[in-house]
Amino acid sequence: MIHHQYLQPSTWFALLRPSLIRPDLALRSINDLDISLLQKKGIKNILFDIDHTLSAYHAPHPSILVKVAFEELKSTFNCVGLTNFNHSSEKGPVMRRKREVEEGFGMACIIPLNKKPSPRAFVGAMKEHHFNPEETAMVGDRIIADIVGGNRAGLFTILVRPLHLGTMPLFYRVVTLIERSIFHLYTLFHIIE
Ligand SMILES: [Mg+2]
Repeated sequence: MIHHQYLQPSTWFALLRPSLIRPDLALRSINDLDISLLQKKGIKNILFDIDHTLSAYHAPHPSILVKVAFEELKSTFNCVGLTNFNHSSEKGPVMRRKREVEEGFGMACIIPLNKKPSPRAFVGAMKEHHFNPEETAMVGDRIIADIVGGNRAGLFTILVRPLHLGTMPLFYRVVTLIERSIFHLYTLFHIIE
């Protein structure tokens, strides 16, 4: 189960550009998200990664660890899920997962044809929901998919640590390890503050 966006060299080259991988905020989880700070920044909308940001891998509900904070964010901002769902390229499972997220998480969900980190994934989601990039935040656990993609699309980007890491497939654990190691190196050498 190797996924095409991670087979493109341009995906990995992004890690060589500190300005692209730097999130506007790096938090432990959405529990630490300061709602009034986001409001001061003019944020009205949030695009949420699902797996390991709000739940375990492919889970049908938000994790108990972040459920309260998630409900509060949903009542304050226009929230939409934006998940790659690489599990299958068939239409049936994709539509099933979309419905499952929409019912279980209580928000609209987009599974883009052009996967994150393609800016088209973000632009398409914002267009569908009439969001302006200046008023939209992207929250996710993956540096390449969520932060690089969100930065390229001009969003306010928020990196969280992956929830329920034990449920993450090995391939993604390796991706996470590589991208987090590079991120920490940049931080260590003050390339990223
Ligand atoms: Mg994720």
